[in-house]
Amino acid sequence: MQKIYLLSLGCPKNLVDSEILSALLGQAGFALVASPEEADTLVITTCAFIQPAVEESIEAILELAQLKNKGKRLIVAGCLVERYKEKLPPLLPEVDAWIGFRALPYLPEWLKKDCLPKLALKGPGWKDEDYSLRIPSHPFSAYVKIAEGCSNYCRFCTIPFIRGSLKSRPIKEIVREVERLAEMGIKEVVLVAQETTAYGIDIYGRPALAELLEILDKTGVPWLRLLYTHPKRIFPLISAFKRCQHLTPYLDVPIQHVDDEVLRSMGRGMGEKELREVIWSFKQELPQVRLRTTVMVGFPNETEAAFKKLKDFLAEVAFDHLGVFKYYAEEGTAAYNLGNPIPDEIKEERYQELMEQQFQIVREKHTRYLGQTEPVFIERVEEGYKGVGRTAWQAPEIDGEVYIIEGKAKIGEIVPVKILDSYDYDLIGKINKSS
Ligand code: SF4
Repeated sequence: MQKIYLLSLGCPKNLVDSEILSALLGQAGFALVASPEEADTLVITTCAFIQPAVEESIEAILELAQLKNKGKRLIVAGCLVERYKEKLPPLLPEVDAWIGFRALPYLPEWLKKDCLPKLALKGPGWKDEDYSLRIPSHPFSAYVKIAEGCSNYCRFCTIPFIRGSLKSRPIKEIVREVERLAEMGIKEVVLVAQETTAYGIDIYGRPALAELLEILDKTGVPWLRLLYTHPKRIFPLISAFKRCQHLTPYLDVPIQHVDDEVLRSMGRGMGEKELREVIWSFKQELPQVRLRTTVMVGFPNETEAAFKKLKDFLAEVAFDHLGVFKYYAEEGTAAYNLGNPIPDEIKEERYQELMEQQFQIVREKHTRYLGQTEPVFIERVEEGYKGVGRTAWQAPEIDGEVYIIEGKAKIGEIVPVKILDSYDYDLIGKINKSS
């Protein structure tokens, strides 16, 4: 039996692709192994949306390529292939095949027949049956991809060129997948896409995320979580949050910036006034919903005054979670022509300033949680603790966690935890038996 080692880099959307590919390879009779040394074939699904991700992918390829003298095949799949299909193959002859995400469904057959093409980009992408074979990497939490691609074309972003324009999955297919995950005992379903709030525009002629959420709310999954929304489309979600009892009180809404000029140059489709209105309305209507945002510093026309405006806005809204990116001029994007005039040191200073401010915001918020009891989803065990989990307003991998120091709970359970203390971005608590 041929043995395959699969390494998944990058975001949850890539992880879903890797999980589907694992299932298809298993079905085709291949054995998936945990270490590259014992494999006959090495497959790496890559990320390439910004330069650090590209570098990380290339480093991982080179590392695996060192094992090639033992007669292994090396296959690179995912975003790096789509982005650098012309440039990279001649530079990395160690790679036996470059497979784009649309051609991935063919990979098991090509491996079986030993007829791997050097470069393959065309194909149907995943079919619904492929999604239904998938075994999530975590036994109790799973990402569900509701759409592929993005049609927003924000001027700094490579995603629409890598993953193509928006392609939503039909509601009934997503519902079937979530029902199957619920039957498997999954406690948390995290809905992902490049931009989840655009869901449905291509196939239903209107954004249909709120409708989808209301249907998924009836599937019996205890926690439904939403990532990657666009602020210009979050209004319809207010009623969904009010009606869906399983939707976690958490919204990931990357704003990128708040200054009018910067937003216009970024092509975000909304200005400061509209952005302020939508964020404040959301907060007023749904005070229990914790907000996460992502912003970018060092965009070519971000002046000191524009940066100050961003910093003040983040302090004013006091987002519960914040991610800050430094701008990279990415070849092929519209913003690339604007150059990259802001020096790296300034970008780093701005990044640090925002992170320090956020740290104070989080510390202050954490003091308010002390003594409160929150449902916590136990995800893993760690030496010295009774368990480690997340509240409903902490997403996997990107937000803080809750370390349990007293009480008993099993992985996969959602238990009441009294918050006792905090540590940087994490919380410390004990299982509250009296709840
Ligand atoms: S909405 Fe997100 S994925 Fe789509 S183009 Fe803009 S930044 Fe990129």
